[in-house]
Amino acid sequence: MKMSPRQQAAMLEAAQEQTRLDGLIARAACLPEKAELDRLEGSLRRELTGGARSKLNAADLGRDIAKLQSDISKLIAREKADRLSLGAVEDKFERRELQRDMESTRRRRLRTERKLEEYKKMQQAYAADAQRSVGAEEANKDIAEARERLAGAERDIRARIAVAETKLQERISALEGDAAKLYGKLSQANGIPVAKIDGRTCGSCFMELDVGTLHDFDALPADQVTFCPECGAMLVRPATLAVAMK
Ligand SMILES: [Zn+2]
Repeated sequence: MKMSPRQQAAMLEAAQEQTRLDGLIARAACLPEKAELDRLEGSLRRELTGGARSKLNAADLGRDIAKLQSDISKLIAREKADRLSLGAVEDKFERRELQRDMESTRRRRLRTERKLEEYKKMQQAYAADAQRSVGAEEANKDIAEARERLAGAERDIRARIAVAETKLQERISALEGDAAKLYGKLSQANGIPVAKIDGRTCGSCFMELDVGTLHDFDALPADQVTFCPECGAMLVRPATLAVAMK
């Protein structure tokens, strides 16, 4: 197939503009500003759930602590009753029973008091955790700022995409009959439809062309259309580009 070097070069320019546009669209899909916003929102969510859980745990502990305190008062009352009875009872057997009960009550009270101390410490830790969610206000401010940065980045990339789309349309409408038809057909396939040869490498699939193919290409006139034997992309040879630039 023959085609004027200028039209071949125009096809190459259209393909290059398409690549630029694809790059911008890909970048728009994974803006670093979006990743940063997701990170901030995720960490706030975790913080809030953690804070809420701590509040629940602190409330549970509060009930346990009240129970322990009431147990301790009962045990103290029992010890006191035992002591008073000891003062009044003369019977040896009864006195021994009272002493035994007083001693076991004291041990239970000490155990309960130790537990109460532990629970109080845990409650303080949970309260400190729950307090952290107060930092949510600060985090919300960071999130609002990150959201603004993202909106700015999105506006910017959308504008650049719009410019690239316009340029691409201009380049495509600059293609004449056969060139337009071939470009349309090549664009249906995956990958870059038209590329340069970079040294020995196809600019579309990045495979190295064998020496025989390159040798054949060199022998062809500038208006001869050539294709990559590996990927089928149209290759605009240096000789063709040189003529197109004249
Ligand atoms: Zn190729």
